[in-house]
Amino acid sequence: MTELLYLTDSYLKEFDAVVTAVEGNAIELDRTAFYPEGGGQPSDEGTLAADGAVHRVVRVFKKDGRVWHELDSTQGMTAGQKVRGTLDWKRRYALMRHHSAAHLLSSIICVNTGAQVTGNKKYVDRARVDFDLPMLDKAAVADWEKEANEMVEKGISVEIKFVSPEELEKDERLCKLRKGLPPGLTSIRVVDMGFDAIACAGTHVRNTREIGKIKVTKLESKGKEQKRIEFVLEPT
Ligand SMILES: [Zn+2]
Repeated sequence: MTELLYLTDSYLKEFDAVVTAVEGNAIELDRTAFYPEGGGQPSDEGTLAADGAVHRVVRVFKKDGRVWHELDSTQGMTAGQKVRGTLDWKRRYALMRHHSAAHLLSSIICVNTGAQVTGNKKYVDRARVDFDLPMLDKAAVADWEKEANEMVEKGISVEIKFVSPEELEKDERLCKLRKGLPPGLTSIRVVDMGFDAIACAGTHVRNTREIGKIKVTKLESKGKEQKRIEFVLEPT
């Protein structure tokens, strides 16, 4: 089982690890700072250096509970080999900022409307969140955007916590995802921004000020009870 270093330290950019398995173009490590795609957040990219050769990490994904790093080539790589991983930090940091911004905006919309989040996707240059709302009023969206930017300005610290399902159930700040959590979890990772707490395995900034300015760019109807908000961040 790979130790997932990003769960407790989103700012870790380099790390040492040992190869535990090689399968085709993918390798497994005993520990990793690379985020595997999931929860609407794309995977990290970067490099793995091993015995003088540098391999490009093109994609990281979970399969049957294991984390695999897909490389441009696994030639010469074997289990037991020591590697040094380096993240494409520019990409990861952009994804972190968009992910934290999506939490912030979602919470404000959930609190103001009672809506639930039905889907979301983050990119390096934009993000979108879907809500189970019958309509989106432009003026209301402008107010939510303003409120979100005030939260950014306040410089609220973003804390990562691990709680039990019972503790999570009791937390009334929780902005719930419609699909809920997978059953059987004993420890749930929560991203806590003070005014809200969201169960999430993604990577986040330490302080809301790092997000930058949130600018809503698109409102879209994806169905009777599904409305989509897309936004960008400034500076990019
Ligand atoms: Zn999240």
